[in-house]
Amino acid sequence: MTEVSVAKEDAAPSGDLVVLKSVNKHFGALHVLQDIDLTITRGEVVVVIGPSGSGKSTLCRTINRLETIDEGSITIDGKPLPAEGKALARLRADVGMVFQSFNLFAHKTVLENVMLGQIKVRKTDKKKAEERARALLDRVGVGTQADKYPAQLSGGQQQRVAIARALAMDPKVMLFDEPTSALDPEMINEVLEVMQQLARDGMTMIVVTHEMGFARSAANRVVFMADGRIVEEAVPDQFFSNPRSDRAKDFLSKIL
Ligand code: ADP
Ligand code: MG
Repeated sequence: MTEVSVAKEDAAPSGDLVVLKSVNKHFGALHVLQDIDLTITRGEVVVVIGPSGSGKSTLCRTINRLETIDEGSITIDGKPLPAEGKALARLRADVGMVFQSFNLFAHKTVLENVMLGQIKVRKTDKKKAEERARALLDRVGVGTQADKYPAQLSGGQQQRVAIARALAMDPKVMLFDEPTSALDPEMINEVLEVMQQLARDGMTMIVVTHEMGFARSAANRVVFMADGRIVEEAVPDQFFSNPRSDRAKDFLSKIL
């Protein structure tokens, strides 16, 4: 009897997709992540905000193991992060990441950028990879740019290609680290709109951004970080209208 119920529980898909428990990390003497406990459920959109240097990028980078942690645990879909090899490449595909600097392969066309990971990591055949790449490029509004090289595109277009490239891997979760910070103002909205649509489509997303309009309209939860700690978490309305901590009040008074 007991055994059956345990097995059932194991088989049930858990709502928790990304779970960080008591995560600590140092860069030398700097305690950059301090006792981070954070659970992201499937379909949730979490916006991470906080002053520069508070550890937001490092937090993102630990989740796809671009940085290792000193203590604690991180699981994706119930599994610990693999340390190396093909399993690590698959993890990085499962956890799509979009950076401030677009990080496209400069010597590959837009289409090739979106096909490459599918072929190398997901072992998708070339024809299917191209079909999917073209469909995704259409979806983010750059279908007509497929045969160009990244440098021939605007920043907003390049960032949308970067999003398509991550989506091509069928990620379980998407991490965005200040995806619009390097863009000219007139290009910010075209990227945010793609992200809004992704959120509406049910993608699980962790988004570091200073775009408070996006946070208000797309986030299920705002996580406020300062000095390597999560200081406050709340639904956007509550966070923006009634922040509890002095750190958050101070931060919001400077940016709003
Ligand atoms: P945020 O994204 O919130 O601005 P970061 O995670 O980039 O913060 O950085 C947090 C702190 O860690 C900063 O003080 C930064 O200088 C430091 N830091 C980040 N990466 C490294 C590194 N590779 N080596 C040493 N210090 C680092
Ligand atoms: Mg950062």
